[in-house]
Amino acid sequence: MNLKDSIREIKDFPKPGIGFKDITTLLSNGEAFKFAIDEIIADLKDKNVDVIVGPEARGFLMGTPVAYGMGIGFVPVRKPGKLPGEVESFEYGLEYGTDTLEIHKDAIKPGQRVAIVDDLLATGGTMQAAAKLIEKLGGEVVSMQFLIELEELKGSDKLSNYHVNSLVKY
Ligand code: 5GP
Repeated sequence: MNLKDSIREIKDFPKPGIGFKDITTLLSNGEAFKFAIDEIIADLKDKNVDVIVGPEARGFLMGTPVAYGMGIGFVPVRKPGKLPGEVESFEYGLEYGTDTLEIHKDAIKPGQRVAIVDDLLATGGTMQAAAKLIEKLGGEVVSMQFLIELEELKGSDKLSNYHVNSLVKY
């Protein structure tokens, strides 16, 4: 199946000049959605993963079905102020300014093998921040899984210390 057929590009979203890869059309196509999730699960099969982490918000949509399918747990990484318990935070640089991501301190146990799942790899900043949070808690990031990779932004260079898999490349 060609997953690109079910991903649409919206021009000038969220700002003029940006071509946004819209995955809602893939999520609403049951056959394509199942195919994508099954491909990620197949790639993770031999990696002895203990838990899936997904960054807000589209990482929830991709990560939770992967966790369910593998029969393991899911841990959310969220924007500041959303998680109710005690959190670990990581601030990272954007093109203009900074962003922060948070994880519950007790969500990952030292030594756990973690796979992070998100919809799209652009600069790699989000994934790198999520990995730092997991590592601060003593987890080991054994894989990073993406539905889409935007190759010209070279995010995979930033993540070269990790195993990276993306289903569709532009
Ligand atoms: P990065 O941190 O790699 O620069 O950006 C990746 C994050 O931004 C992902 O969490 C992803 O959800 C979001 N993102 C950036 N551009 C797009 C896009 O064109 N389509 C979608 N679906 N998400 C995007």
